[in-house]
Amino acid sequence: MAASNKSSRRNFIRNASLGVGALALGPALSALAMPAGKAKKKLGVALVGLGYYSYGQLGPALLHTKDCYLAGIVTGTPAKAVSWSKKYNIPEKNIYNYQNFHEIANNPDIDIVYIVLPVFMHKEYTIKAAQAGKHVICEKPMALNAKDCEEMIAACKKANRLLSIGYRLHFEPHNMEVMRLGQQHILGNIKKIDTGNGFTYNGDPNAWRLKKAMAGGGGLMDMGIYSIQGARYTMGQEPISVKATQQKLRPQFFKEVDETVFWELEFPGGLKTTGKSSYNNDWSYLKVEAEMGNFELGPAYGYGSIEGSVNGTPMKFPQIVQQAAQMDDFANCVTLNKASRVPGEEGLKDMKVVDAIYRSLDSGKWEKIS
Ligand code: NAD
Repeated sequence: MAASNKSSRRNFIRNASLGVGALALGPALSALAMPAGKAKKKLGVALVGLGYYSYGQLGPALLHTKDCYLAGIVTGTPAKAVSWSKKYNIPEKNIYNYQNFHEIANNPDIDIVYIVLPVFMHKEYTIKAAQAGKHVICEKPMALNAKDCEEMIAACKKANRLLSIGYRLHFEPHNMEVMRLGQQHILGNIKKIDTGNGFTYNGDPNAWRLKKAMAGGGGLMDMGIYSIQGARYTMGQEPISVKATQQKLRPQFFKEVDETVFWELEFPGGLKTTGKSSYNNDWSYLKVEAEMGNFELGPAYGYGSIEGSVNGTPMKFPQIVQQAAQMDDFANCVTLNKASRVPGEEGLKDMKVVDAIYRSLDSGKWEKIS
């Protein structure tokens, strides 16, 4: 146990330090991998599902990427095919629907398939994309549960394709600084972490996000995944057990899924951190107390501006297009044939925590994370 904890800690530190370097060195490294005199190829990305996140964030971010571009789309809505094709100059041969998606296997323009669908479709389309010979980015939360995550990882391994999760914050400078401060004990050992993420859901009461079979859960799956990650990447360790409680102030709205969830995560060595998620509160913060001071982020997890401070002094990092950095990094991983900093295994670790939180909500007890 101790050895594996140490090794996961080492991996966290290595990943964090590689992270900073990779952002700066990414293009240079991939240029090294190119045969002399050959221009570097921009990899083609196909977005699967053209809803809110693709429309508002990923499509626009693909106009900022240097190492990949929007080459194709998969949509069930013909009108979206027309408008996206015009806006992003996508040829008809690179436009698919859910019935002919498998034909993407024969399309050399598409290197990476990015799954931006409701959670219950993540497993099916990740596996289909890998079997079609494409590298895959899958949005968070990775799947309905940890078992499905394991099947997705196994299918991508079997197809010899890389799998990454859309964890954009691993490429965001303020969050990367928190990883460095926490994992390298820059202010000494961590004494306390409190973190929360949520928003007040007032959208369509019939949306997939509010249906357990389609979303897997509510605020915990959608927003809590970030506060779980925040604690994990600040500690640089994997939590071993969890105790959770919940609150429902709008039960008529959140009939099938959780509204607000509070938890304590126990880490090896005994530190207990607190976290929370919500579809009924606007939260986005991470507060850390260490032996020699404190650091915090707020807003911590969105894709608008991120702010942070160390012992009260503001961090001075640029605001970046997180998704562009995330997709460029994955394109470089594909070019260099190396695992992503946020591989499927990272999504699986979070889903193990989520599964244990739901078990704790049912049992009312501490549950092991396994
Ligand atoms: P959305 O509902 O706006 O879009 C989902 C898309 O899937 C729609 O275009 C819809 O037409 C399509 N779809 C195909 N088959 C469907 C079916 N059977 N039922 C419902 N929709 C179907 O959702 P979204 O907000 O774009 O979220 C998509 C994914 O992206 C989710 O996994 C979500 O968690 C993730 N997301 C991530 C971030 C982030 O910051 N990383 C932000 C928002 C959403």
